[in-house]
Amino acid sequence: MTMEERNMNSLVDLPALIARRDRHTGIDQGRVFLVGAGPGDPDLLTLRAARLLASADVVVYDHLVSPDVMDHVAPTAQRIYAGKQRDRHTMPQESINALLVRLARQGRNVVRLKGGDPFIFGRGGEEMQALARAGIAVEVVPGITAACGVSCYAGIPLTHRDFAQACVFVTGHLKEPAGEPRRPLPGEEIRQPRGGPATDAQATTGLDWAALARPRQTLVIYMGLAALDEICTQLVAHGMSADMPAAVVENGTTLEQRVVTGSLRDLPSRVADGGFESPCLIIVGEVVRLRDSLAWFGPEQGMVSEELAFSA
Ligand code: SAH
Repeated sequence: MTMEERNMNSLVDLPALIARRDRHTGIDQGRVFLVGAGPGDPDLLTLRAARLLASADVVVYDHLVSPDVMDHVAPTAQRIYAGKQRDRHTMPQESINALLVRLARQGRNVVRLKGGDPFIFGRGGEEMQALARAGIAVEVVPGITAACGVSCYAGIPLTHRDFAQACVFVTGHLKEPAGEPRRPLPGEEIRQPRGGPATDAQATTGLDWAALARPRQTLVIYMGLAALDEICTQLVAHGMSADMPAAVVENGTTLEQRVVTGSLRDLPSRVADGGFESPCLIIVGEVVRLRDSLAWFGPEQGMVSEELAFSA
């Protein structure tokens, strides 16, 4: 195994790598801040994220980052849009990694801004590995992940002593993007399914449905809108009651937030009738019932968060 490969697969001694590189080149290089932008409401940015946005030289941002969050970027900063929308990858991951390395090597302070939290379904880990391999210093700023922010604004506590003692975050989108196959882990062989690339519905069957269908836990499913039908069907097939409450939240925490609740039986048709579009978060579990009494945010409640009310 080469040094390069070892660094890729193990914890990287970042300071040592950087010191070696700087000794070698004598160049002052910039640093990359991998920053979580939260789920949409700009008030959910951390103070650290807001400060970094205000002082960045360049911000490389994702599709999920809301325009209201981008308002916090320094007017002088260069803004680079890196995608990604489902099945419409504006910039392949490799190019994003290369871009971040290039910008940092130009000596600029780079903010890599990602929706929610960079380490939750955000490929932040992969980007950090690539930067570490290139000897670039990286700092990570956590963000409020969709599960936390969106559930709060939907009035659905993810745990509750009476209903759920555990909460599972899971992706409902396991399909590999076209032209960008996942790199195998050491010793792993990735098999192409018979009959060509997986569809969303086929791909999600890779989930451990029996574990997901266990009682007294809440499921939070990211990127699950396209596979909603399959998700509800599989949960019921693995023992969950078809009457289990479930919700879909579209554009959570923003003024466009919409919530639909129902059961595993009828949620897919309700969502289809409502014409829900990405980004949507699916929440499954008894806790969804609590929304009836706890919903506080949105037009139906006649209440929005203070800051959003001002900016509306
Ligand atoms: N890193 C992000 C998740 C990226 S995956 C985070 O920590 O939140 C993208 C998925 O996140 C979307 O498909 C959707 O399921 C969810 N999501 C992100 N923002 C959302 C929002 N405002 N409302 C509803 N779902 C959201």
